[in-house]
Amino acid sequence: MTEPKDATPVTAEINRAAVAKYAMNDRTDFTDAERGLIAELPEKMYTKDGQLMRDGSLTSYITDDAPCPDTVNPALWRQSQVLRRQGLFKVVDGLYQVRIVMQVTIVDAPDGLVIIDTGDNVDLAEASMDLFRKETGNEKPVVAVIYTHTHFDHYGGVKGIIDEADVLSGKIPIVAPGTIESFNKHAIGENVITGNAMSRRMGYTFGVLLPRCDCGLVSVGLGSADAGMYTNFSYIPPTDPVTKTGEKRMLGGWEFEFLYAPDTEAPEEMHIWIPAINALTCAENANHAMHNIQTIRGARTRDARNFARYLDETLVRWGDKVEVHFGPHTWPVWGNEKVIQFLEDQRDMYKFIYDQSLRLANQGLTPLEAAEILDLPQDIGKKWYNRYYHGGLHHNVRAVFHKELGFWDGDPATILPLLPADNAKRHTDLIGRDKILATGRAAIDEGDYRWAVQILHHLVFTDPDDSEARDLQADAYEQLGYQQEVPQYRGLFLCAAKELRNGVATEGQLNTDSLDTILAMPIDLLFDFAGVHLNGPAADSAGLAIRVNWTFTGTGDDQPWTMWIRGGVLNARPGHAKGAQLTLASSKPALAQVLLNPSNATELISQLDVDAEGDTGVLTELAKVTDTFDPHFNLITP
Ligand SMILES: [Zn+2]
Repeated sequence: MTEPKDATPVTAEINRAAVAKYAMNDRTDFTDAERGLIAELPEKMYTKDGQLMRDGSLTSYITDDAPCPDTVNPALWRQSQVLRRQGLFKVVDGLYQVRIVMQVTIVDAPDGLVIIDTGDNVDLAEASMDLFRKETGNEKPVVAVIYTHTHFDHYGGVKGIIDEADVLSGKIPIVAPGTIESFNKHAIGENVITGNAMSRRMGYTFGVLLPRCDCGLVSVGLGSADAGMYTNFSYIPPTDPVTKTGEKRMLGGWEFEFLYAPDTEAPEEMHIWIPAINALTCAENANHAMHNIQTIRGARTRDARNFARYLDETLVRWGDKVEVHFGPHTWPVWGNEKVIQFLEDQRDMYKFIYDQSLRLANQGLTPLEAAEILDLPQDIGKKWYNRYYHGGLHHNVRAVFHKELGFWDGDPATILPLLPADNAKRHTDLIGRDKILATGRAAIDEGDYRWAVQILHHLVFTDPDDSEARDLQADAYEQLGYQQEVPQYRGLFLCAAKELRNGVATEGQLNTDSLDTILAMPIDLLFDFAGVHLNGPAADSAGLAIRVNWTFTGTGDDQPWTMWIRGGVLNARPGHAKGAQLTLASSKPALAQVLLNPSNATELISQLDVDAEGDTGVLTELAKVTDTFDPHFNLITP
């Protein structure tokens, strides 16, 4: 195991000089982030069966007066210091937050508690509620849950807060943006259908594969780095959809008003106004950070114009009354003037990214060229809440191109390029390994790390076992990582260095496609998920032609579906069809397991009480062409 290296003198100098770019004297966030603290979190938090889920000692070296290490960008170091303020906070009368990495907001309405977002983790959500009840003595029941948007860190903890039975019986509503179908589709679509790819990329970009130290993960920008080592995601589909701006609900005796803001930070998202306490949340569309227009963990590209549009609509609607803004990550903003300034600056930051990217596109620049020259305007660029703590300007500019113009950058040479490994080998043959190595080494000596990464890429992709090239490229990635303000760039560069030196890292890997989420999938998505597991070319060359009828029981009326595979393609639609070789009937969770694990179908059918009529041999045929996904696939080698 090769350990991380120190910053080179070049990196140390770049990080020291960077302070001139930032408003280092503005320390407002340090006090705001601890305003209203009732109780800090216990340093170590465990699940009921003893698994460690938060360890504050991992980041305890990031004290307020600790000087910025040479291995960390000073703006990122500062945000990591602020983010260590965690615990139970009273935001204003009637509004509390438990801030860990993903926070739970508790509205103490007259007739009960309304929970806004649950965090990602059942056990942490439960611990958050326990802490709130213990410290405040508040024993009111939870009467409603609100999901602000479709990301797992906002609904994953729900079963730690309420029982699903109370949702199914109608006792506790779950209010969420978009139709229920759309919310389910996007919640699960983002996190399950592409879950394996996204989880692997998330391991890199969130730096969860890294050690917690000043040579590794210091914070994720929106939250500190001392939780997230243990995951337990749950899902309960929403029951009460908000599809129009201006919709209101009475929850716990208070009115809640919603601004529907789709296609922003998530495909379905909404802002919430609580008039009784003049409190507003713009969910994740306003944060103490620039957010992602394209998250590099992988998700659909977002609309920067919509961020700006809905923030401005929010200002028009509630700007004259708002006294506090609270978010699902980071800390609140208090006072009418400050909230307005905050929302205006965030709006303008997103509007600038959108407008200027497309101005440059219309001038004929490629995404990379535009990303390289754009910088935020001076005034809004100095605001800490506009800094690159989640998104980064460089990839957000490219994301606007992607959203509006598609993936092609406009250079004919990139529409049918050689594969990276082939391209690398031809360059290596042309230039010669020795010359490339020498060039890479010289680039590192000069601190030209971006060039070093590019040139050495040819050698690593020509021969992934070339340890001399790997080690050199790791050194270059590492120094680049140490210089990044964007925690996700830091994470992926440092993970690349780690895996180049030590092989694929598996410890700490997150998985968003939890069993609970999969089992909660609507039936049509379940078949979509089966479709992306089908090895189409193999099914095609095997001439596989099967049809299975399914009866999903136990949720009111039975739901019949038919699924067929022909010519390497899986399709499904409601209703049974003639000519099925097999008909299966059982609950959705049971059938889901059979569908997604056809190789264990025989056992599952008997264990889960599935009624099977016909030839179960078709499931054996299906198993032969069903792929399993490797959660640790290569990123830094072909
Ligand atoms: Zn989030």
